[in-house]
Amino acid sequence: MEEKFDICEQQQKLTDYFGTLIKQKHLAHAYLLAGPKGIGKFELARWIAQGIFCQNRIDGKPCLNCSECRRIATGNHPDIVHTVPEGLSIKVEQIRFLKSEFSKSGIESSQKVFIIENADKMTASAANSLLKFLEEPSGNVVAFLLTDTLAKILPTIISRCQVFELAKNSSKYTIGTLEKLGFSTEKALILSSLTESTEEAKLLAENDNFDKILQNTCIWYLHVLQGDLRSFVEIQTALLPLIANKEDEIVLLDLIALLVKNSISIYYNVQKNIFVKIQPEFAELIRKLNEKKITKAVELVLNTRKTLAINVSFQNVLEALTINLRQCYYA
Ligand SMILES: [Zn+2]
Repeated sequence: MEEKFDICEQQQKLTDYFGTLIKQKHLAHAYLLAGPKGIGKFELARWIAQGIFCQNRIDGKPCLNCSECRRIATGNHPDIVHTVPEGLSIKVEQIRFLKSEFSKSGIESSQKVFIIENADKMTASAANSLLKFLEEPSGNVVAFLLTDTLAKILPTIISRCQVFELAKNSSKYTIGTLEKLGFSTEKALILSSLTESTEEAKLLAENDNFDKILQNTCIWYLHVLQGDLRSFVEIQTALLPLIANKEDEIVLLDLIALLVKNSISIYYNVQKNIFVKIQPEFAELIRKLNEKKITKAVELVLNTRKTLAINVSFQNVLEALTINLRQCYYA
């Protein structure tokens, strides 16, 4: 049977990343996969589950052919529980059922995987029930919570998961368009990584401050990675003076998110460099870190975006993030 949706093609960065984690047996207990409908959240969760159970794994990646891979593909694996909303919501009984499944040891192995689709549709009591479970993960359990709308997930749930946002791979088109307009390949690459919309990328490219924001943010991040206290001062001296409005704030935070996420790619050598000019300096520092620190840093930045949404002053948000990142990298 031919599968139309090839997750390794659609979400190559993520399958490369998770392949490495599977190979090193470093999967976390809970992942929250967010992104628009049809982007491949379920396919990615299923692919990782196949990677976990596959009998003929190739470099961390599932073969998709063995009996385990095929049972998972057809939804017939006893150690994988797949929960979807019953009617409009996911009810507490469904979470209780899921938990009871996991209190038994794996039917055929000690490993268990659960996938909760539309996790934003959990009722409050279902979410609380799940929360307790996420707080005290038992045994070899990997949980995948999927959502179209990250903003609808309770912060307490988010804080217990590693969050991955899946994005459309339309960057080639955006890069081509920007190059035709006369922007450098490097800038086009960064812009296409910041937004899925070619129009928005064009607007950003034409913003007079963008180059300076980019340059100063890269220097700031370099200092954060070096544990250099100048990073704290630079918020006031080099970053805030360039920020004219709410849109600029979001651009700056998105750039920081991109830098921090890019560190994952640098660490695993999985992707072409985005920040070409400064990449070698980043790489030298990032390779000295470990996986826990770089994934934690991504969480910190994603949580920061939420803090900004609840109207804290931008300066406070950036200062807190600088301190937290520094602690994260240097703890
Ligand atoms: Zn297999």
